[in-house]
Amino acid sequence: MSGGLVTAAYIVAAILFIFSLAGLSKHETSKQGNIFGVVGMAIALIATIFGPDSSNMGWIIVAMVIGGAIGIYLAKKVEMTEMPELVAVLHSFVGLAAVLVGFNSFIEHQPGSMEHVMENIHLTEVFLGIFIGAVTFTGSIVAFGKLRGTISSKPLMLPSRHKLNLAALVVSFLLMVWFVNTGSTSVQVMCVLLMTIIALAFGWHLVASIGGADMPVVVSMLNSYSGWAAAAAGFMLSNDLLIVTGALVGSSGAILSYIMCKAMNRSFFSVIAGGFGTDGSSTGEDQEMGEYRETTAEEVAEQLKGSSSVIITPGYGMAVAQAQYPVAEITAKLRAMGVKVRFGIHPVAGRLPGHMNVLLAEAKVPYDIVLEMDEINDDFADTDTVLVIGANDTVNPAAMEDPRSPIAGMPVLEVWKAQNVIVFKRSMNTGYAGVQNPLFFKDNTQMLFGDAKASVEAILRAL
Ligand code: NDP
Repeated sequence: MSGGLVTAAYIVAAILFIFSLAGLSKHETSKQGNIFGVVGMAIALIATIFGPDSSNMGWIIVAMVIGGAIGIYLAKKVEMTEMPELVAVLHSFVGLAAVLVGFNSFIEHQPGSMEHVMENIHLTEVFLGIFIGAVTFTGSIVAFGKLRGTISSKPLMLPSRHKLNLAALVVSFLLMVWFVNTGSTSVQVMCVLLMTIIALAFGWHLVASIGGADMPVVVSMLNSYSGWAAAAAGFMLSNDLLIVTGALVGSSGAILSYIMCKAMNRSFFSVIAGGFGTDGSSTGEDQEMGEYRETTAEEVAEQLKGSSSVIITPGYGMAVAQAQYPVAEITAKLRAMGVKVRFGIHPVAGRLPGHMNVLLAEAKVPYDIVLEMDEINDDFADTDTVLVIGANDTVNPAAMEDPRSPIAGMPVLEVWKAQNVIVFKRSMNTGYAGVQNPLFFKDNTQMLFGDAKASVEAILRAL
C-alpha cells in the first residue's frame, strides 16, 4: 500500500471515529456509532499493517491472532457487572504500551541523527509519553482493584499527600529538563528510569487516595489519560492516526470527567488531588438511625396496583441481580393497567457511566420513560410509589443533610419525597461509598429483602 493511500485511509478512519463518538452520545444512534467505530478501526489496522512503515508481517499476525483470541474470550466471558473492571484493565494496557513505545523510541534513537530542535522535541515526547503511560498504568491497576473489591474503596490518606504529589511532578519536570539538555546517554538512562519509578508511584498514589464515591470520575479520568498516552505514542511513532485517535479519546474522556464531576457536585481538581472538600469522616455507621420496616412481595404488588404514578430508581444491585428483564416486564404490566411508570437514572448509578441505561435498553424498556435525575427530581413529591431497586448511595439523603459525609454535596434522587418508598436489597449493608443510608429508616420507607431479581419476579407473579 502506498503512503498516499495510507494517509487517505487514515483520514477516512479518523472521520469514522468522530461519527462514532457522535453516534454513541445518544441511545437511538448508539448501535450505529459502534459500527462506525468498528469499521474505522478495521480500516486503520489494515492501512497500518499493509502500509510502507510495517515489516515482519508474520510477527504482527501472530500477535494479532493471540491478542484477538484473548479479547474475544474475555469479551464473551465478562459479566455486565465486571465491565468497569475490564475497562480499567484495558486502560492499563494502553498505559503500558505507551511506556514500552517510549523506551523503544529512546533505545532506537541515534543521538545527533536529527537537527538540534527536532532532537529536543523528540526527547520531550519520549519523556512525556513514558510519564503519562506509567501514571495511567498503575492508576488503572489500582482502579481495577478498587472496582473489583480487592483494594479497599476507602481513600488512602497519607500525611502530606498533596505535597507528595506536587513533589513527584516537580522532580519529574526537573528530570525532563536534565534529560533533554544533557549530552550523556548514561545520564539520560538514569533520568528516564528514575522518572518511570516516580510516575508509577504517582499513578498508584493518585488513584489510591480517591474515595469510593468519587470512583466514577477516576474511571473517566483514566480513560482520558489513556487517550493522551496513545497520542504521545503517536507522536513518537510519527503516526498521525494514533495522534488523532488519542486526542479524541483524551478529550472525550476529559469532557466525560467534567460531566461526572458536575453530576457529583465536585471540582475536577479536588477529585484528582484526592479527598478534598469533605473530611469524609462521617460514614453514619456510629449514628443511631432508629427502626426499619420490612414488607413482602405480595404487599408491594397490592401497593403498586393502587398507585397511579410509580418511579423506579435502579442501581448497582439491579445489575448484579440481572433484574432488568423482570423489571421491564413489571413496567409493561403496570403500564397496561394504566399506571404511569417512569425510571429515574442517577448519572453515577452502577459502576460505569451509562450502566443503567445500557441494562434497561438491553431489556427493551422504552427510552422515553427513562429520565435523567435532573428531569425527574421535582416529580417525586407527586409520586405514589418509588421502587429503589439495588440503589443505595444514589438515593442517600445524607448527601444533602450531613456535611461530614463522604458523599456530601453529591446531588441524589430525592426518592424520600414520594408517598411510599420500597427498597430492594439483600441486607442492611452499605453501598459502594461505605455510608449508612438514613432513607431506610424513614417512616414512608419499607425494605424488601432478598435478591432483586427474585423479589421483582415474586411481585410479577403477584400482579
Ligand atoms: P450502591 O453501590 O451504592 O449500592 C448498591 C446496593 O445494591 C447495595 O446496597 C447492595 O445492598 C445492593 N445489592 C447488591 N447486590 C444485590 C442483589 N443481588 N439484589 C439486591 N440488591 C443488591 O449503588 P448505586 O448504584 O446507588 O451507587 C453507585 C455507587 O458506585 C456510587 O457510590 C458511585 O459513586 C459508585 N461508582 C459509580 C461508577 C459509575 O461510573 N457509575 C464507577 C465507580 C463507582 P446489599 O448488599 O444489602 O444487597
